[in-house]
Amino acid sequence: MSADHPCLRCGACCAHFRASFYWAEADDATPDGVPVAMTRKLTPQLRVMRGTEGSAPRCVALMGDIGGSVRCTIHPRRSSVCRDFPPSYEDGTGAHNPRCDSARARWGLPPLMPEDWGAPEPSAPATPELPRVA
Ligand code: SF4
Ligand code: SF4
Repeated sequence: MSADHPCLRCGACCAHFRASFYWAEADDATPDGVPVAMTRKLTPQLRVMRGTEGSAPRCVALMGDIGGSVRCTIHPRRSSVCRDFPPSYEDGTGAHNPRCDSARARWGLPPLMPEDWGAPEPSAPATPELPRVA
């Protein structure tokens, strides 16, 4: 993830949704999986990231200020539910994700737009040249 990635200035989804996933993604079953100490059992099949299971969710793995500078402290080991959540218009060409919008709105942040990915401005139409008169 590059330093100017919009998610590094957001973090809203990590403090809005419950992050639950199949139990065996944790590192007591999968080497280099989600650190099990950062999870708790939700059901016989599911674990949940600690901090995201209540009415005011915020994942224990999230560091920083929402809408400021944030990072996931277990990024390479995060679960599939985190990996599979795309920011809107990822890389300027991805699809709109209304759930990204709703998480950002919860924290007073505007929805991401394609331009937030550094997409070039549409170029102005070329100025026509005066025709040469023989
Ligand atoms: S594990 Fe990382 S990406 Fe997933 S909710 Fe927590 S902070 Fe966010
Ligand atoms: S809410 Fe969207 S922009 Fe914000 S961190 Fe999550 S995916 Fe990225």
